[in-house]
Amino acid sequence: MRIALIKGDGIGVDVAEAAMAVVEAALRRTGQTLPHYDNICAGAGHYKDTGLDIEADGEQRAGAADAIFLGAIGLPSIRHDDGTEISPHLRLRDRFGLYAGVRPVKAYPNAPQRLADPRAAGIDLVILRESTEGLFYSAATHKRSLVVNDDEVQDILRITRKTTTKLHQFAFNLARKRRERGSPGHLTCVDKANVFTSLAFFRQLFDEVKGAFPDVPVGYNYVDAQALDLVRKPWDFDVLVTENMFGDILSDLAGGLVGGMGMAACAEIGDTTGLFQPAHGSAPDIMGQDKANPLAAILSGALMLDYLSEKLDRPVLSEAAELINSSVETGFQQNNLRPMEFGGDMGTRDVTRQVLSYIEETA
Ligand code: ATP
Ligand code: MG
Repeated sequence: MRIALIKGDGIGVDVAEAAMAVVEAALRRTGQTLPHYDNICAGAGHYKDTGLDIEADGEQRAGAADAIFLGAIGLPSIRHDDGTEISPHLRLRDRFGLYAGVRPVKAYPNAPQRLADPRAAGIDLVILRESTEGLFYSAATHKRSLVVNDDEVQDILRITRKTTTKLHQFAFNLARKRRERGSPGHLTCVDKANVFTSLAFFRQLFDEVKGAFPDVPVGYNYVDAQALDLVRKPWDFDVLVTENMFGDILSDLAGGLVGGMGMAACAEIGDTTGLFQPAHGSAPDIMGQDKANPLAAILSGALMLDYLSEKLDRPVLSEAAELINSSVETGFQQNNLRPMEFGGDMGTRDVTRQVLSYIEETA
């Protein structure tokens, strides 16, 4: 198993190392061999040193691995001459067509909760965000909006049959898999089909795919109502599937209901590879101080093992993933995970050590 490892900038380096230590421990505990790493230099620091945002053959090497793991990329102090951010990871998303953005949102005991309702302890959902088209299409593909004239600018909301059908299939499979693991396993199509032809098409494609998954209960919600429902009754949802920008907004909203940036794991999956990373950035304000919460990266490591389990047809890898997830869960339950991010007393190393000890103790 080969992992392309891009540690990147700032706290990205620390949390990526923490995540790989945990991944290795889980592999050892389940009797498996350790991965081969291909360390790829990329990011703002690398750009400053070399003038390249990623090593010359870095993209191609990333694609040759079984999966890509990324810490975080970018530093506000180092940008391109035109002021744009250093973002080689967005090129990876384009190059490998990483259309399925997976953002789990889960409440952990003793982690911050925004909602007073006791049912909030049961928040456990996944937002699936199309990541290559939708309303970000103009920005991603044209690098800018379409300027019609001095007084008008337009962006395009692009929905294609090919990508959207794959996205919905991914969503139905995910809902099914979650049900096998004890979640409700229902799927909500989030759109604005009443207003946009493109999003009516998104829903039509959802309905076309639905027939092949009669066991998955489905629902529909307009995105504005979904935003309200995520605040009013987030515990009622399991898997949400939506277009690019709606998913971007809803996943920040949902992430804000439980914990902080340091808990938000993320996977971006394409046909041939997947990229796994914490949803947060390089956090230059806390870098080098052992303050970063590594759990978002660690949980992304579990997402990666789950993905590799299917890709390489090695079910035992998802046992390793489950071991990581349950260690984090138990750690919070027993109040032994107290990240500084939430006002606790545990820095990056202490949190990592604690997760490792749970993994090593598990019989
Ligand atoms: P990007 O543009 O790459 O998303 P950003 O400017 O949105 O980056 P982040 O780097 O994600 O910002 O940081 C936002 C805030 O959250 C900062 O105050 C940072 O310290 C905090 N933060 C981010 N990640 C973590 C973490 N893992 N642990 C603790 N605090 C974090
Ligand atoms: Mg950000």
